[in-house]
Amino acid sequence: MDQATGTGLRIVVLVKHVPDTQFDRHLGGERSTTDRAESILSELDEYALEAALQLVEAHGGEAAGHRITAVTMGPAGAVTAVKKALQIGAHDGVHLTDEALSGSDAAGTSLALAAVVRHLGDVDLILTGMASTDGETSLVPAQLAERLDLPQVTFAAMLELTSDDDGAWLLSARRDNDTYSETVESGLPALVSVTDQINEPRYPNFKGIMAAKKKPITTLSLAEIGVDPGTVGHSGAWTEVLTAQPRPARSPGTVITDEGDAGIRLVEFLASRKLL
Ligand SMILES: Cc1cc2nc3c(=O)[nH]c(=O)nc-3n(C[C@H](O)[C@H](O)[C@H](O)COP(=O)(O)OP(=O)(O)OC[C@H]3O[C@@H](n4cnc5c(N)ncnc54)[C@H](O)[C@@H]3O)c2cc1C
Repeated sequence: MDQATGTGLRIVVLVKHVPDTQFDRHLGGERSTTDRAESILSELDEYALEAALQLVEAHGGEAAGHRITAVTMGPAGAVTAVKKALQIGAHDGVHLTDEALSGSDAAGTSLALAAVVRHLGDVDLILTGMASTDGETSLVPAQLAERLDLPQVTFAAMLELTSDDDGAWLLSARRDNDTYSETVESGLPALVSVTDQINEPRYPNFKGIMAAKKKPITTLSLAEIGVDPGTVGHSGAWTEVLTAQPRPARSPGTVITDEGDAGIRLVEFLASRKLL
């Protein structure tokens, strides 16, 4: 699909359903899986969604035939992540859910999501967050790009689409490191993970919340996307959580009250811990 042909862009935004960071998070059960009771759309994926909306709006919006599909993989409750994405502005949603996905590690997740993207077909751009706020491995974007044989740009802090001399879409992204920035260019299709510095995600407004009720959500199982259950979940995992226990509570720390010698005592404290 390119600008020359005037057919719209198909953008997939990956949205993960993660435990809400304002509540204590638990790993529980026989195999130490995440307790997803209090879960929400991962905050870092809201930047990816906002980036997709801005790209589409910069090129004529839905009227120009562009479409944003929010895709999630997770248990039944994960559909709320898709619904939130539709309220914010995605046009339709896909929810991959299957008992056999339980316990999937990053390798299993990227395998399943790659099959979803192939099932959708004709996807021009995949946008993801830089990491989930629970597993935080940042492994899925790179693995997914590899599985789909797509060029990938990770940790983009700026993203724009233009067209080259032949009218084909040209993606350019800026990646910021501590001491330098680099600009990366790629044709489409491609995959990009974006940082939390790329934009200010919008909040769903009343109009968006009402419109979302009519937007379609497709629920898919592993059988429908041709994935062997043995290659995902606990049975297909490349990694295994052997044990999980709560981290010891943080010690209150040392309080130094200034009785005229706070500076000296602070230096002694730091020196005793070889921090000087
Ligand atoms: C505490 C903890 C530690 C873990 N450690 C590991 C580990 O070391 N190795 C390992 O292989 N697995 C690990 N896992 C499992 C891993 O979290 C899951 O496999 C997960 O589905 C993918 O990894 P991630 O959450 O780290 O995603 P990341 O790679 O951090 O996610 C990056 C982006 O990919 C997209 N994405 C990720 N998962 C989904 C999804 N389910 N649906 C839609 N989009 C998604 C989102 O856009 C997200 O912003 C861990 C899980 C937990 C809770």
